[in-house]
Amino acid sequence: MKLIDGKLTAAQIRAELKERTAEFERKYLQKVGLAVVLIGSNPASQVYVRNKIKACEDAGIRSFAHYLPENVSQQEAVSLVRALAEDQNVHGILVQLPLPKHLNAEELLQEIPFEKDVDGFCAENIGKLALQEEGIVACTPLGVMELLKRYQIPVAGKRAVMLGRSNIVGRPMALLLLNADATVTVCHSKTQNLIEECARADVLVAAIGKAGFVTSEMVKEGAVVIDVGINRKEDGTLCGDVDFERVKEKAEYITPVPGGVGPMTIAMLLTNVVNAAERARK
Ligand code: NDP
Repeated sequence: MKLIDGKLTAAQIRAELKERTAEFERKYLQKVGLAVVLIGSNPASQVYVRNKIKACEDAGIRSFAHYLPENVSQQEAVSLVRALAEDQNVHGILVQLPLPKHLNAEELLQEIPFEKDVDGFCAENIGKLALQEEGIVACTPLGVMELLKRYQIPVAGKRAVMLGRSNIVGRPMALLLLNADATVTVCHSKTQNLIEECARADVLVAAIGKAGFVTSEMVKEGAVVIDVGINRKEDGTLCGDVDFERVKEKAEYITPVPGGVGPMTIAMLLTNVVNAAERARK
């Protein structure tokens, strides 16, 4: 078994980005900029936003944080995003989800121009991914592909099974694997013979949000197992969707939780921002 170290890889990527942001600043006399919009006071969202702002600083990206009160109107939120869409110093816009219930998230996200949609969530960017056109890809699946690339794990021609089909992880991940010439099966809560489907995978990616769901009987000897899940155990510690201790005995490669896909997500967000800035200047 070989461990795929997401923490180390993410640190390497962040160091590379620091050089790119410095070069951008030298060349264009402007900093790469990310606007982060946080509405309300969801404690988890506050932590995520704080971490993203800190990661931006470390990578030489200027962040513009906008905190709106819980009771902000749709119109006020839309006005802010429209202003950020026009702002030349803002190369990426991130609206932290979930939004307070009275707001229409889809309508608000549509205000982000696709070239500044650094989460890769908008219909245009998903469409580009489906059509294999250049666009911005959602950070978590992109992080998985980057791990596979940097560990030189080939997926072309391999049988890949995506466990989960959410818009932010499963679907874009399945498209990326397909675009990389894997033979892709997508499993979800209605899938029959789930164990057999997973056990055929050369590359198994789990993103369902259920602690220890993937047992060793679901994993082929020598498979590559990527665990996207983040679950909190009763004792407060984090674990993935994979029963790591048992599955690691069968897998050739495996990602741990924490320290696997998680750190890559934020590294890919920063990558998307730097790419967006460079594209905007080209
Ligand atoms: P969602 O809840 O949006 O989607 C879960 C998916 O899993 C759905 O497609 C669902 O199927 C499927 N599923 C649920 N239960 C089963 C089951 N018993 N058998 C088969 N399929 C099942 O979750 P997300 O995609 O947003 O997140 C998944 C996990 O990844 C979570 O733990 C989340 O915390 C983590 N995550 C980690 C990130 C990171 O940076 N590492 C980033 C984003 C998420 P159906 O569609 O049929 O309901």
